[in-house]
Amino acid sequence: MHNTETYESTLAYVNTHSKPSELRITDIRFADICGIPTHCSLIKVYTNQGIVGFGEVRDNAEKLYAQMLKSRLIGENPCYIDKLFRRIKQFGGHGRQGGGVSGIEIALWDIAGKAYGIPIYQMLGGKFRDRIRMYCDTDVDGKDTGTAMGLALKKRMEQGYTFLKMDLGIEQIAHEQGTISGPPGFLQEMKEVTRKWRARFEKPLTPDEIRRHYELQNLAHPFTGLHVTEKGLDLLEEYVAKVRHEIGYEVPLAIDHFGHIGIEDCIKLGKRIEKFNLAWMEDMIPWQYTQQYVRLSQSVTTPVCTGEDIYLKENFAPLIQSGGVSIVHPDVLTAGGILETKKIGDLAYEHGVAMAIHMAESPIACLAAVHAAAATENFLALEFHSNEVPWWDDLIVSKLPKPLVQNGFITVPDAPGLGIEDLNDETIAQHLHPDIPGLWEPTEQWDRYWSNDRQWS
Ligand SMILES: [Mg+2]
Repeated sequence: MHNTETYESTLAYVNTHSKPSELRITDIRFADICGIPTHCSLIKVYTNQGIVGFGEVRDNAEKLYAQMLKSRLIGENPCYIDKLFRRIKQFGGHGRQGGGVSGIEIALWDIAGKAYGIPIYQMLGGKFRDRIRMYCDTDVDGKDTGTAMGLALKKRMEQGYTFLKMDLGIEQIAHEQGTISGPPGFLQEMKEVTRKWRARFEKPLTPDEIRRHYELQNLAHPFTGLHVTEKGLDLLEEYVAKVRHEIGYEVPLAIDHFGHIGIEDCIKLGKRIEKFNLAWMEDMIPWQYTQQYVRLSQSVTTPVCTGEDIYLKENFAPLIQSGGVSIVHPDVLTAGGILETKKIGDLAYEHGVAMAIHMAESPIACLAAVHAAAATENFLALEFHSNEVPWWDDLIVSKLPKPLVQNGFITVPDAPGLGIEDLNDETIAQHLHPDIPGLWEPTEQWDRYWSNDRQWS
């Protein structure tokens, strides 16, 4: 009985109207939403057989990175995923620049899955698990103390989450005298610039404010001159102790957002908090500094993690091969998409490194990450930033469980492609970006861009 049911439910997904060998990409369009919790550009890739693939540009990025790919893809068979990925790969980059290539790549997988009636994880070689463990970054309402954070994390555990993450860094101690040394006024200006940037939709920034934001945001950790004092380290240690007092020592707890402090301060802090048995320390310094990562990993016993801003497997390789990380943390929408994320995970596996996945976007990116996670052996946990966004699940139309995240897990879908049947335009329309109001508007202006697309001669 059970087998017959499985057979019939599988057959129900097979798209007998599709002729994959004759599929062609006909159009690519966008809708920009805000509040999940930030800005994301959703993508539709249209075909000549009525199949539409869903993709998404990385959170807080320009859809320009995806628009410029349209002229390079129109008329192509979307099922030739790796071939097309290799063509457009040269137009991606680290951080938000990876969002165009990666966002289109996941839409191609979605189309191929829908054309052949197969879930994406199956096309990647099948799954290692039926459920994906989710974890939430957690903020505190009101005064940010270790006890308040512990109680907020406890609420996550009551909701079923079995993996936790919180911030731990100079932001939590900067208000206390004598906790940080550095250039006078630097931290205050940083705070003010960040506050204005966050409020930019209500009050647009002046050219001078934009310039200063760029300057400060791009000043990497080794160059800020900020150092945490012994008093600062005491307070941070006490913060984690209070958190662990509330949540106990059994549940994995990762930490992130230390602030822009150099490697020596990271080592000092890392040593102080070793006793709290943390799951990982994330992005302590920019990922480009491979040798500093090696030094950090060799100096502390808490697992070291980075990767959400790295584009392509070849750029993860130095960190993995040098022993600089215990955990890689790609974002599918920066790393290069679904297949590249699996390849990163497989490379990490060969070196005894685990893979967690960063994700701060809509159910489209989330399900792309779920398929990659299902098909990668050394996967640990997938990030979820939208636990407090009640309409997040309404963005999609599907037969998947609603909400998607139940008891801290997502069940790996068996529906074709990502598992999404349609997008819910009503919900999308209610949350459009105030400065980018269009909903799937024509994009013919991107049909004809061409350059000598080659990176060698
Ligand atoms: Mg992070």
